[in-house]
Amino acid sequence: MNTTATTPTKFKPFTRQSIVSARQWEWLTPELQEAVQVVSHVLPFRTNAYVMDTLIDWSRVPDDPIYRLTFPHRDMLPGAEYEQLRDLVLVKKDDAAIARLVHAIRMRMNPHPAGQMTHNVPRVNDAPLKGLQHKYKETVLFFPSAGQTCHAYCTFCFRWPQFVGMDDLKFDARECGELVDYLKVHTEVTDVLITGGDPMIMNTRSLAEFLEPLLIPELAHIQNIRIGTKSVAYWPQRFVSDKDSDDLMRLFEKVVASGKNLAIMGHYNHAVELRAPIAQQAVKRIVGTGATLRMQGPLIRHINEDPKSWAELWTTGVRLGAIPYYMFVERDTGPRDYFALPLARAHEIFQAAYSMVSGLSRTVRGPSMSAFPGKVVIDGVVTINGEKLFALQFLQARNPEWVRRPFFAKYDATATWLDHLKPAFGRDRFFFETESGGALRGAGGRVIPLVPAGQRGHAQPDAA
Ligand code: SF4
Repeated sequence: MNTTATTPTKFKPFTRQSIVSARQWEWLTPELQEAVQVVSHVLPFRTNAYVMDTLIDWSRVPDDPIYRLTFPHRDMLPGAEYEQLRDLVLVKKDDAAIARLVHAIRMRMNPHPAGQMTHNVPRVNDAPLKGLQHKYKETVLFFPSAGQTCHAYCTFCFRWPQFVGMDDLKFDARECGELVDYLKVHTEVTDVLITGGDPMIMNTRSLAEFLEPLLIPELAHIQNIRIGTKSVAYWPQRFVSDKDSDDLMRLFEKVVASGKNLAIMGHYNHAVELRAPIAQQAVKRIVGTGATLRMQGPLIRHINEDPKSWAELWTTGVRLGAIPYYMFVERDTGPRDYFALPLARAHEIFQAAYSMVSGLSRTVRGPSMSAFPGKVVIDGVVTINGEKLFALQFLQARNPEWVRRPFFAKYDATATWLDHLKPAFGRDRFFFETESGGALRGAGGRVIPLVPAGQRGHAQPDAA
């Protein structure tokens, strides 16, 4: 088996339709090929020659973390569902029946966790502003329409409904006139997060059309422009060798020269994504412009459970000039049972990784849940008055007064999300469920977890 790593310079995507033309396809066993062909009807994938040639170690497939991350697997569906779909796809080849079953399976996968399409969208004269979300006082999110696809369709990411056609993303914007008008009157806003999808999918000229209007004197209160991207890991050529990569660097320099902080929010899942020379060069090129590069990503079962991978990622990033930022908790959407880890385990992994690195890498925060009330971090497991508890706090919140306010939940070894937790000390509600700030309740009276606006797109990744 030829596993020689190469570094492609020409972007070549692969999807279900084209993967059979990849030279690596024949290296897969018939069982793995079948799983890819069957499950990708529900959870499509998209990858490229760089990920295939450089990041995946084919001698370790199917256990290679990037292979697990990139391709759909049989275990992502319950056995009976898989068999039913397999029969329709490979034997009966009944397109209408496939479409019905696929839709039913997707609906079971919680494709729209608690109204992410509608919350936080600012309105003017009772009309929603296209392409904008405003959840936290100081931060506005902007979704340029040309940046609403990705280098990968990560099945753990709640963007997957968009990629399978379940979301038509009604609020993406073709130009940024409304954004600029909104920001002119909202002088409390200091940060704009440009997100997707992946805005770095855009060519430099298109990206400039969204960035340059933010540099005008009337928007002097905008101090930070953030861009969420997976390109740093899955197509670092964007910053190094694409034909307009030098222009991109000049654009970054222009933003920095305007006096604003340009923060690239890089989505990394595994240390291997920062081992290739071109990935390291991309970091150097980005920080060489005066921009900052923050590293963030979700903790995912099968992919990055090893604390050593996180420690290597953060340490390498810091050496190159990047800043470790967030370890997120995997969200409750898609094939969640396949990827989710209990909060208790997530905390252990974070602690172990944190203890392996020097203070310069300890800028990282986590494990953090991006839930409806805000970003909640698990600080630790403690025993108070004989009761074993999770110690938690908000890193970001709908109500700014909640930030950094410690609170406690009963320890639960199996809980995987905030709404699985129960308040400590005999209380029936957490403080944020009774104070104003916008927490919603589900049918059972529990907090409804919502992907904060900033988590769209690099969503496990993005931190608004
Ligand atoms: S937004 Fe990021 S995490 Fe989500 S599918 Fe795209 S690359 Fe993957």
